[in-house]
Amino acid sequence: MSTIWRALCLSHSPAIAVDLFVGEYEARSWESAADALPSARESHPHCDLVLGGFSYPLVTVACVGGPRHCLHRAPQVFDADELRLALAAWLISYPAEDSMHQQLSSAHDRWMNTNRCWPKGRLSRLAGEMGLTLARPEITGEERT
Ligand SMILES: [Zn+2]
Ligand SMILES: [Zn+2]
Repeated sequence: MSTIWRALCLSHSPAIAVDLFVGEYEARSWESAADALPSARESHPHCDLVLGGFSYPLVTVACVGGPRHCLHRAPQVFDADELRLALAAWLISYPAEDSMHQQLSSAHDRWMNTNRCWPKGRLSRLAGEMGLTLARPEITGEERT
């Protein structure tokens, strides 16, 4: 199954996907996507860019660092399903109304503590690319750094 890599700009809500090309071909490997990333920066010079591997749907997200909350230098690779579950746990627990919601909210907070790349606002901007529709788009602006 072949994967096509795109840059995803998370400075916009929802995220904007930017095609990455190596010569005339779409980037089909992690390495070629990283090589092509500077071309995406030309149109998004001060933006928060990550790399998304699509095998339809989105299957992998690589954070290349940049935002203040990212403490890593090497790229951090995440399984898109893990990010979907994290976002779902947060959405289900919003607002926390009963004990299950509170437990999900706590689980999400614990996950956030070890996955510092993904404050809620940043994660929620990926929702569309992950195939999720947010019923409450007004909550996507929240950012925790
Ligand atoms: Zn941008
Ligand atoms: Zn990061």
